[in-house]
Amino acid sequence: MLGKHAGLKLAYARLRDGGRNPFTVAFDEILSPTEARLDGRSVMLLGTNNYLGLTFDPSCISRSVLALETEGTGTTGSRIANGTYGGHAALEAQVASFLGRRQAMLFTTGYQANLGTLSALVNRDDNLLLDADSHASIYDGARLSGAQVTRFRHNDPEDLYRRLKLLKERQEPHPDVASLGAPSQNLIVVEGIYSMLGDIAPLREFVAVKKEMGAYLLVDEAHSLGVLGKRGRGLIEVAGVEDDVEFIVGTFSKSLGGVGGFCASDVPDFELLRLASRSYMFSASLPPSVVAGVSRALEIIEEQPGLRDRLGRNAEHLHHGLASAGFALGPTVSPIVSIRLANPEIAVRFWNMLLDQGIYVNLALPPATPSSQSLLRTSVSTAHSTEQINRAIDAMSAIGQELGVVPGVTDQLYA
Ligand code: PMP
Repeated sequence: MLGKHAGLKLAYARLRDGGRNPFTVAFDEILSPTEARLDGRSVMLLGTNNYLGLTFDPSCISRSVLALETEGTGTTGSRIANGTYGGHAALEAQVASFLGRRQAMLFTTGYQANLGTLSALVNRDDNLLLDADSHASIYDGARLSGAQVTRFRHNDPEDLYRRLKLLKERQEPHPDVASLGAPSQNLIVVEGIYSMLGDIAPLREFVAVKKEMGAYLLVDEAHSLGVLGKRGRGLIEVAGVEDDVEFIVGTFSKSLGGVGGFCASDVPDFELLRLASRSYMFSASLPPSVVAGVSRALEIIEEQPGLRDRLGRNAEHLHHGLASAGFALGPTVSPIVSIRLANPEIAVRFWNMLLDQGIYVNLALPPATPSSQSLLRTSVSTAHSTEQINRAIDAMSAIGQELGVVPGVTDQLYA
């Protein structure tokens, strides 16, 4: 039955040669946002998406516990059936107000938010213009929509412009659609901070292209919500383009420390999405305890901008430390700091050696990485102490030297 995955099986077996299986790590115990126990030993967590360290916030926990005790463990139904409680509607209003939008709708995961939003917004008569490094959920949503997909070069507004221009020149309205008076639409999709290399979209330039070409724009702020902006509203706040972005997608599973996703917008007839989005309709809604915890986390993001300031300082510290040690990193300083390595074998060895030193980071390998790079993805949190970050930099530098992946020793190893 699974014969079609023979290539995958081979690649997977090779990965395990070096020691542990990197894709089946199971922590014995999570002690805090930055510490866990693994195989009986304590490890520092330097590869999560817990950017603000809110997973153990006492007020989030107590709100969750209260909801758990009063509303039960789950809703057992979809939002359009028995799965809408007061908390779901209240969180939708809270998300919308936080982002300065009229409407928002919740999904049970961020993955489902992209899947449901994209597939419901466009159809085969429309064009989706996706950044080449888009998350899998964006590609899957695009496929489900049936729209014509055009990929443009990662973070390259000129390439987007060129491709949109070509599309517009060729664009002949579909006869059915023309008779209904609905011209085909062009929807551009970009992310705020990109999850693998931590680089950031040139959003102002994308907005300029979108305006000139008359397209719509959706920004997935999964890794930037609560992380960027004075108020934590993400890249669109930093770039000052909030009025020019039609759709904001995000997740509760990163800076907010929970699970779930959303789409927020001002467009008329937004409510139709609830009936057109299959991942919304045909999946159980978020448990009340999650809704309550996320709602509190969103309040914290608004109340405590200092958490973001500290995150920014930690990100700079880690990025600067690893850059000074000579590692090849992503182009931008952000809480995601990835080390680029020459090949998967070195990446797996590095990852295992780091874990032996009590530091957990993410191993990211082709084909799941941009340009098929082999990456050690580290991500820093507000909750990391300076001492922890220094310890990580020292350990990575020592291993980098031992493996010969820092400049002066084996420059030629870089991909
Ligand atoms: N969008 C992006 C850009 C992501 O990185 C992710 C998760 N890595 C998602 C969507 C999906 O979010 P979730 O894990 O909450 O389903």
